[in-house]
Amino acid sequence: MHRRQLLNWLLASSVFTLPLGISAAQIQHARLWRTGNTLRLVLDLSGPVQYKTFSLTAPDRLIIDVSGASLKGDFSELVLANTGLRSIRSGHYGQGDTRIVLDLDEPVQLSSFLLPPQGGQGHRLVLDLAKSAVAKLGVAAATPSNTHPKRDIIVVIDPGHGGKDPGATSAKGHREKDVVLSIAQLLAKRLKREKGFDARLVRNDDFFVPLRKRVEVAHKHNADLFISVHADAAPRLTASGASVYALSEGGATSATARYMAQRENGVDLLGATRLLNLKDKDPMLAGVILDMSMNATIAASLQLGNTILGSLSGITSLHQKRVEQAGFAVLKSPDIPSILVETGFMSNPRDSERLITARHQQAVAEGLFNGLIAYFQKNPPASSHMAWVNEQKNSTFVTSGLS
Ligand SMILES: [Zn+2]
Repeated sequence: MHRRQLLNWLLASSVFTLPLGISAAQIQHARLWRTGNTLRLVLDLSGPVQYKTFSLTAPDRLIIDVSGASLKGDFSELVLANTGLRSIRSGHYGQGDTRIVLDLDEPVQLSSFLLPPQGGQGHRLVLDLAKSAVAKLGVAAATPSNTHPKRDIIVVIDPGHGGKDPGATSAKGHREKDVVLSIAQLLAKRLKREKGFDARLVRNDDFFVPLRKRVEVAHKHNADLFISVHADAAPRLTASGASVYALSEGGATSATARYMAQRENGVDLLGATRLLNLKDKDPMLAGVILDMSMNATIAASLQLGNTILGSLSGITSLHQKRVEQAGFAVLKSPDIPSILVETGFMSNPRDSERLITARHQQAVAEGLFNGLIAYFQKNPPASSHMAWVNEQKNSTFVTSGLS
């Protein structure tokens, strides 16, 4: 059996289908309601349990690990509209432990506690989620607005190819590597002018950068987002227009498998140990956590990609009307939303004639910029200047609503 297949098989069989009879307790019901500014999730348990919680950002998630308890059913019956919860996922791991992941619209401040049987009710795990100004990895804490960090959102821009690798070449000899460098530089310049944003280029000149190195740059700069800029080529010369790619689930799965394989050799997948202290954890569990994080990151990347497609649609024709998914190596960051934009076709005479003009390059950079801004307005990373701006808007709204 191929090693990757073996790893996938191991993941599927050992992690998800271990016998659950060992569990001492069962999570029997879940209830969800809002009181004031607090959202309360109560898990009704058949017996006492131990649990741990932690949070992850970009996108914001809250993870609850309940040990020694299996889950009866799922959370599909809970109504999540207007709760600030996008979804609730769950999975089994280890010897009948349960992981619950809450996908959040924004960071929350969590207080949680166990309640013993009382007043006709059994054991319960109570999770109170309050809106929080700032919630950092693992530690949820509200920060007064005058001490808001208001940090810049860091966008890492990756101009495709470079140096010995020209990328696609037009019939007239224009090269993708030059076109995408110009667009990337214009985008970086535009982002740097915008308050609350900063940009870094993977390459700022004509040199070759290996794929893996490109992802490393994003991690080194703690990027909130990674965008790789390309221009297509196709044997069919009539193919034209822009497309946007996010990592495919299959790509994520194989990245997980690769991580698993590399872990055996003592090599760390980029960002994985930064994301979580995976070294302490069981390798199978680490794989599952990574997979969940990857899937959430893919969801964020798809959302970003859709926004970018929308903003590009007025500037260029679209080759694909929706975000495509593929297993590109540069998109394989477990914790940074990443997209690859094909700005047009070098192989299409009309596309390439436009792509080499400063005017069109500026328009494409502007389109990408507008898409990024629109995405971050909806999904501001915790502690960013844009999150602060949104909080100001919200607090104004609350005040006027009360008066
Ligand atoms: Zn390319």
